[in-house]
Amino acid sequence: PPPPGPLPIRRLQEAVINRIAAGEIIHRPASALKELIENSLDARSTSIRVTIKDGGMKLLQIQDNGCGIRKDDLAILAERFTTSKLSTFSDLSHLTTYGFRGEALASMSHVAHLSVVTKTKADTCAWKACYEDGKLVPPKTGLTVDPKACAGNDGTTITVDDLFYNTPTRLSALRSSSEEYARILDVMTKYAIHNPRISFVCKKAGSSTPDLSTPSSSTTPQAIRLLYGHSIAKELIHAEVSSVSTNKKRRRPQDDEDEEMDVVSDDPESWSADAYFTNANFQAKKTALLLFINHRLVESTRIKRALEAVYSGILPKGACPFIYLSLQLDPRSVDVNVHPTKREVHFLNEDAIVERIADKLQEALASQSQSRTFEYQS
Ligand code: ADP
Ligand code: MG
Repeated sequence: PPPPGPLPIRRLQEAVINRIAAGEIIHRPASALKELIENSLDARSTSIRVTIKDGGMKLLQIQDNGCGIRKDDLAILAERFTTSKLSTFSDLSHLTTYGFRGEALASMSHVAHLSVVTKTKADTCAWKACYEDGKLVPPKTGLTVDPKACAGNDGTTITVDDLFYNTPTRLSALRSSSEEYARILDVMTKYAIHNPRISFVCKKAGSSTPDLSTPSSSTTPQAIRLLYGHSIAKELIHAEVSSVSTNKKRRRPQDDEDEEMDVVSDDPESWSADAYFTNANFQAKKTALLLFINHRLVESTRIKRALEAVYSGILPKGACPFIYLSLQLDPRSVDVNVHPTKREVHFLNEDAIVERIADKLQEALASQSQSRTFEYQS
């Protein structure tokens, strides 16, 4: 039996701490890939190519044509809390990048074998570095840990081998490789729709035909058509709504004209939303909600419920819509640091904003079905 009284408190070993922390951020191959895609987007890439083996459990590789990483930074690249994106806490309130904590690559190095090949425009060759547990290690065929000169294009290729090789519980909790691959494609599809000017390609290693491929310089509706198909694309309604129109709406008619100009873009409570959503002709078994808040792919049960409620009067019971919603808020009113995977965010005036958006969808759906009735009658 355990001795009476409390057990001594001991400090965890660094390696244990880091592996636990990594597990909070990297749940599965798709969550690793999300971090990697966001890094490529932060690096202003216009092309993102992903190669997958075994649903990402054996190999997850992402090649971009972004700004690259300076050779001198490679030594600390995979340490925890090393980032080029944030330096003070207050920077968080005007964040324009996806990353800010410098934890993603570190996490991957604690639960996988990580290697990086990168070249900036200023470099004459690319540099390759390998990492374990946050630190540089010699590559399989090398003796020193120093980054090795090699051939390569401008940009960065990150390779994650044998994800969760040292956390067997996590590995065994994963689904089949085909299910993990489906999740990877899902994340890529959503980012491709939100970033239609960037070319995304995803394929299985050894296969010559990609499973997902988008051109650069496309548009969101074109990307929806390409990736979700004509049956959704042909039933889409587009709507935009913003805090400015909220204020206009709230104005009483006798209010004086000048007040309409009241909303300055500097207003921390200003916001705008852009949505593509299916009309009453389209019915799916499950709601597809592609929700982006300040360009970040997030989940929100509250927003999902509010939007589904709009459709409850329009679609038969059990039928669900497709909705793409991109919400832009002043970074000062958003807290992105509420969830380890950043998949949830909190923002000010959430209820009021969501209600405005739901009203707008309702309005657009109603006016479309009205014009339809009219067409049929005439
Ligand atoms: P964060 O994105 O929060 O800064 P990460 O661990 O994801 O943390 O990345 C650490 C740093 O590595 C980034 O701040 C960035 O400077 C650099 N980096 C990572 N991926 C890329 C990439 N694909 N292209 C250029 N730089 C990158
Ligand atoms: Mg990052």
